[in-house]
Amino acid sequence: MADVVLFRSPDSRDFDAALKESFSKAFPPGGRVAVKLHMGEGSHHFDEVLAARCVFLLKELGMEPFLFDSPVMYSGNRDTATGYLKRAAENGFSEKTMGCPVLVSNKSEKVEGNHFPIGVCRDLVEADGILVLSHFKGHPCCGAAGALKNLGMGGVDRDSKAAMHAGAKPVLTGECDACGLCAEGCPGSSITISETAVIHQNSCWGCDRCVDVCPNNALEPNLADFNRLLIDGAAAVLSKAPHTFYVNDVRKITRLCDCCSDPGNRIAPDVGVLLGTNPVAIDQASTDLAIQAAGKDVFFEEHARNPYAHVREAAERGLGSLTYLLESG
Ligand code: SF4
Ligand code: SF4
Repeated sequence: MADVVLFRSPDSRDFDAALKESFSKAFPPGGRVAVKLHMGEGSHHFDEVLAARCVFLLKELGMEPFLFDSPVMYSGNRDTATGYLKRAAENGFSEKTMGCPVLVSNKSEKVEGNHFPIGVCRDLVEADGILVLSHFKGHPCCGAAGALKNLGMGGVDRDSKAAMHAGAKPVLTGECDACGLCAEGCPGSSITISETAVIHQNSCWGCDRCVDVCPNNALEPNLADFNRLLIDGAAAVLSKAPHTFYVNDVRKITRLCDCCSDPGNRIAPDVGVLLGTNPVAIDQASTDLAIQAAGKDVFFEEHARNPYAHVREAAERGLGSLTYLLESG
């Protein structure tokens, strides 16, 4: 059982006091703390004011924070450190606004994974602690995304990100009756139907949604489920991170992730901000609370993905506890 603390509103001194006490327990005195967060493609991302408050509190405790993220695997504004830093500054994340260095790097250290070696970002490996700040939202690959996604995909290098998505691309291994269900809702528009389903590998995201929806079990991921591969990444990062703490901002819960310039509608009412020491418990609690607030499993409804699958996989891999004690802050 892990403790998770919910603040319905983080605009209070109690919230800052809880953060400060948590940071002092979580991180070694005077340590260099990597503040791992997604700094956004468009206007949706972890709140920059809240990130700056975390940095301020870490510095008050005598620690040396720096913001960190890795470049994305696909072509775009954030596929290089230079491009990402420019976009981050446009979104309010710069050394001047944050009061600490802002780093983006693809340099990594290889860690053995269950399916392939995983390049864990070196800045995370070399830090004395990692503060994981996550905006909780919907995601087409894993239903909902919080701390585990932030670490598993965001904490590894571009080759590893690409390998995770490539490993989840589908192959037709069973009897296909060309029903077309897999093509409906495919986020990459990567399936056409002729005598059987035809998968266009170049545009496929490797989300393996089609594998789940096929009524004939005719499709399989070519290596492993996306959720398994994602949690391989999270396990690799955590194997190098003895000191971590987690903040999930469960507000502005959009349909799509912060990588999208337009992340779509908000799909659930705001819940608040959660704090915890355990990535599995905080994601489980975030998902439970968002679904309770919406009155239904909006993540499954939007993406046909079980939002708990990767959280359960992480618990089975020993990364944390599915059970939690929720306290109100
Ligand atoms: S893995 Fe995802 S993107 Fe690729 S074909 Fe299946 S549903 Fe479409
Ligand atoms: S859902 Fe399954 S059976 Fe239907 S077209 Fe796709 S692969 Fe074929």
